[in-house]
Amino acid sequence: MTAFQHCINPDCGHSFDLLEVHHRCPDCGALLDVEYEWDKLPVPKSLSHFEQYWGQRRIPQRHSGVWRFHELLPFAKLEECVTIGEGQTILQKADYVAPYAGLVPGSLYLQYEGMNPSGSFKDNGMAAGTTHGKLVGAKHTACASTGNTSASLAIYCGVTRMMNAVIFIGSGKIAYGKLSQALDYGARTIQIEGDFDDAMARVQEASKKLNLYLLNSLNPFRLEGQKTIMFRVLEGLGWEVPDWIVVPGGNLGNSSSFGKAFIELHKLGLIKKVPRLAVINAAGADTLYRLFEKEGLRWNGGRCDQTHIKKFYDQMDAEGRRANTIASAIEINRPVNLTKCLRALDFCNGVVREVTEQEILDAKANVGAGGLGCEPASAASLAGTKKLVAEGVIGKDERVVCILTGNQLKDPNATVAYHGNNKEFFDQVLGKRGVKTTEFANHPVTVANDIDAIIDLLK
Ligand SMILES: *Cc1c(COP(=O)(O)O)cnc(C)c1O
Ligand SMILES: [Zn+2]
Repeated sequence: MTAFQHCINPDCGHSFDLLEVHHRCPDCGALLDVEYEWDKLPVPKSLSHFEQYWGQRRIPQRHSGVWRFHELLPFAKLEECVTIGEGQTILQKADYVAPYAGLVPGSLYLQYEGMNPSGSFKDNGMAAGTTHGKLVGAKHTACASTGNTSASLAIYCGVTRMMNAVIFIGSGKIAYGKLSQALDYGARTIQIEGDFDDAMARVQEASKKLNLYLLNSLNPFRLEGQKTIMFRVLEGLGWEVPDWIVVPGGNLGNSSSFGKAFIELHKLGLIKKVPRLAVINAAGADTLYRLFEKEGLRWNGGRCDQTHIKKFYDQMDAEGRRANTIASAIEINRPVNLTKCLRALDFCNGVVREVTEQEILDAKANVGAGGLGCEPASAASLAGTKKLVAEGVIGKDERVVCILTGNQLKDPNATVAYHGNNKEFFDQVLGKRGVKTTEFANHPVTVANDIDAIIDLLK
């Protein structure tokens, strides 16, 4: 088998067959990677190799924005790969939004993952994760979710009828757009009296005991699918590598997969330059920011200081600190992919920043006004870019790609609270979170049901 699973801990480094199912390394507990024997595989000579597939859209896997890069994630036969049309996304040159971030026109690009079937980037990973589930013959699958993972798993199971989905969510934390998807697509929905970090812990236990195939980003096959977001960014730039990739950080699966994508592209000689990576936390869920920027935790060749991490979490529990942000998709204090993300930051000379609720909502309004719209968590990427440009870390004419992770319709409450005129609703959704101003709001105007009044208003 040319693809296998491999423990990321260099002091263990054990490998496991492609068809074994593990959440973590059974020998040492570290995260697993999917690895390939590239020298036995037909590796493309250049990225333009993939252009030949643009004309093959009638083959479902070639239509897919994930599987048309099959040679770079070849763990299943092309015809066995699960697809429901994910990855039809665009890289939008966002000249109207660029000045908000302090960038010159032509510098800012928005990679719009909200166009995926379930409306978030999670579908890239779910196409690959469910493909592995199919390879191992799984019948029941589960995930914990702040919302989008469950929406994605639910739609894949609903459309393909391959597996039954059980989703674990925290109580009261999930945006309605996302909850409505899981229910509508027919997934069994379990609401835990706790938050995402609790749901994540319970789903791992339940999956072990009940033999459910786990589809959180702990699943290394999911991250293989998410690598293709970077391939499509490069495709959108004519195979040129940008200066910066900026991405919101929650469970840190996306940032980890981006790092792996660039490590592999570089190793295979398909890129020369490596972009810098910026991962943006919400200030109310800033474990990575604290550990990386404030406490100097590093990848350290795979030997990152686990005692440091444990002490950090013990302190967090002692203080009773819980993740809390309007950006519910990144409302996570115990990111399961932390060590893989440190590897990505190491390889891509990365930085981490945190942004406030106010900064997230103002950025979101600017994406909405000039981009294709996004949910609060996604806007953290633009807010973080603005911060890094102001600091001089990102040059104002560098080429920056912000990943817009989820669709605007996912969380209508946040949008309506910001733009609407209902003070009570604003206080309830945003005011209580410390959002004070709505500088970029597009307020609706009320008028009498009278044509003259309407004409007066519009004159
Ligand atoms: C899942 C998600 C994130 C966080 O991604 P991670 O890979 O968990 O860091 C950010 N934004 C949206 C919209 C998401 O659905
Ligand atoms: Zn191991």
